[in-house]
Amino acid sequence: MSTVTLLGFPRIGLKRELKRALELYWRGEIDAAALADAAASLRRRHWQLARDAGADVVPVNDFSLYDHVLDHAVLFDAVPDSHRPLLDADPLAGYFALARGRQSGGHDLRALEMTKWFDTNYHYLVPELTGDQAFRLRGDKPVAQFKEARDAGFAARPVLLGPVSFLRLSKRVDGGDPLALLDRLLPCYVELLGQLKDAGAQWVQIDEPCLVLDLDAAAHDAYRRAYDALASSGPRVMLATYFGALDDNVALAASLPVDGLHVDLARAPEQLAAVLAALRPGTTLSLGVVDGRNVWRADLDRALALARRAREALGDARVQLSASCSLLHVPIDLDAETALAPLVRSWLAFARQKIEELRTVADALAGHEAAIAALAAARGVRAARLLSPLVVKPALRKRLATLPPDLGDRRSGYAERVARQNAAFALPVLPTTTIGSFPQTQAIREARANHRAGRLSDREYDAYLERETAHAVRVQEELGIDVLVHGEFERNDMVEYFGEQLDGYAFTKLGWVQSYGSRCVKPPIIYGDVARPKPMTLRWSRYAQSLTPRPMKGMLTGPVTMLNWSFVRDDQPCADTCRQIALALRDEVLDLEAAGIRVIQIDEPALREGLPLKRADWAAYLAWAVECFRLTANGVADGTQIHTHMCYSEFNDIIDAVAAMDADVVSIETSRSRMELLDAFVRFRYPNGIGPGVYDIHSPRVPSRDEMVDLLRKALAVLPTGNVWINPDCGLKTRDWPEVRAALEAMVSATQALREEL
Ligand code: GLN
Ligand code: ZN
Repeated sequence: MSTVTLLGFPRIGLKRELKRALELYWRGEIDAAALADAAASLRRRHWQLARDAGADVVPVNDFSLYDHVLDHAVLFDAVPDSHRPLLDADPLAGYFALARGRQSGGHDLRALEMTKWFDTNYHYLVPELTGDQAFRLRGDKPVAQFKEARDAGFAARPVLLGPVSFLRLSKRVDGGDPLALLDRLLPCYVELLGQLKDAGAQWVQIDEPCLVLDLDAAAHDAYRRAYDALASSGPRVMLATYFGALDDNVALAASLPVDGLHVDLARAPEQLAAVLAALRPGTTLSLGVVDGRNVWRADLDRALALARRAREALGDARVQLSASCSLLHVPIDLDAETALAPLVRSWLAFARQKIEELRTVADALAGHEAAIAALAAARGVRAARLLSPLVVKPALRKRLATLPPDLGDRRSGYAERVARQNAAFALPVLPTTTIGSFPQTQAIREARANHRAGRLSDREYDAYLERETAHAVRVQEELGIDVLVHGEFERNDMVEYFGEQLDGYAFTKLGWVQSYGSRCVKPPIIYGDVARPKPMTLRWSRYAQSLTPRPMKGMLTGPVTMLNWSFVRDDQPCADTCRQIALALRDEVLDLEAAGIRVIQIDEPALREGLPLKRADWAAYLAWAVECFRLTANGVADGTQIHTHMCYSEFNDIIDAVAAMDADVVSIETSRSRMELLDAFVRFRYPNGIGPGVYDIHSPRVPSRDEMVDLLRKALAVLPTGNVWINPDCGLKTRDWPEVRAALEAMVSATQALREEL
């Protein structure tokens, strides 16, 4: 019978218990032992849950107090020298100093940089390596967690991040190639595998997700050297690949001297044939047949068909069934969602349900009657979902099918538009603005919670929001900002706020997914055709505009960001779903314009992060992403000014796409890179307006006027003065009012100083 295994499980806990424990510990309200207890009880609960749901073997060492890549950096002592003394003296304090920085107790330690884990919304800490990096084993987390599970009676498989992926995900502070350090790192792995074997581990899972990326010859060579060195030094090795097809790396992966290979058959079912053909005799194949990246019930027939093909080729004993990747990227348990519409709920599977699905496939493969009946029931639910009126809206489909081809084109080119806009708005040179949100204070969050709980009536809540909005407008006028915003006080979150008002979106109560460390998000679920029953932002933009003669920006989240920060339906291409969102937002843009809002900002911070993992797929993604933005934005008259905002992006690879969006003004985050991120725009001779962020909003530090003047001089040296706007890096919702006032005052005064020089 085929074994059901898991590559990893969420760590944070159904009710974010780990987050609570971490925050208590960071505030000094519980000690290290209490934190360790909380973590151990979560691990225990999750192993139990996985086993009860049908897993034959549970993953261990997938758990982390903050981040698994950081765990490996610490495990191999690959930490900056600055942090090592604290790590030696107090390992837990040192660990969190690497994760979050530390400015207390006589320490001034910065946090490691954070970046996205492949194309997920999980962020890992980037290990920093030096040219003469030495590695050694520090601590015994993998072995200790294996023993913990073993002693509690679980069949457990330790998970390690593989040496080549670990190095590729790290950076060298001297700019050198991290892979050059491979030979120094490998002895640590050999030693660790030996320890795991001694502790009784039968298998170890070694993750090499980089095997699904475009790899050069040097990387291929690194893989061969690494796994030759690891062969037969420990337990049997299951080499895990995920987040896509092995493609050109299939022969390499299948030729490495390991005992098992895990492949992603959710994203790349078609690779099964090539993998079966390439697999070495005796190798076990782990089939990732249930999607670890989304929340839909699986097509169990398809999963069973794949499993049967593998069994025919390899025999029962050499086939394992698993989710495509770690279940880290999905919420824990659908059973906790009591408020979802029952029909929508019947279509969903979270981590627990995904394990049950794997059990069903394994049992059906073994011919169990009950599992075969369960398969038939699942087939019926899936078929009904695809035809449900909740999912399919014929009128919308028809509208989309008959869209005129030039709907995404502005009436005139930028030069003509900007001339009209300048005449209409009569703005000074170097106009100032902000990115949208103003402080979301504790009081606002409380008012929202009270409103949700029914303790504050609609009228009272509305009046409260009006007062906050009016206050923000007044402050901006006092500061002398040129183009104002309403402050976004009515929004809980930039995606959720819109999703809640659109058809086709569902929201969970406990659908938490870890974003980084203790931070979690609850991504909305797009289950059906997206449509806008009525205007969404008109009321607040109109109210705010009524308070001031200055231009008030309408504020929308763009279609690509709405898509990329949600769980997306799996029954039609992402591009089609995005077009539906774009059309709904287009109607909002046109309603705003008709109501006299003449500057409209459409935020797309997630456009770049949606880039596919393989370069070959970039052009197709960017083509539909840009098309969707244009569809949303470009129905307006020449005199209406479209802004877009894209923070934390590196623009070199996507500058053509940004230009093709054809927004009148794009604001970007440039202060932390000291305007370096502008280079792409300069080299491209980006023709439209651009607002390079002049101060970092992530830090409570209030920047001085002179710092901003400096940064602006750098920008003005390379950009045409007439194109430049002045704004912070991003929205101000995480800051408090005194900081915001002081920083914006300095920003306006820096702008005035520069205007006088012109
Ligand atoms: N308008 C949003 C805000 O100001 C933009 C947020 C973002 O780019 N992440 O908060
Ligand atoms: Zn931003």
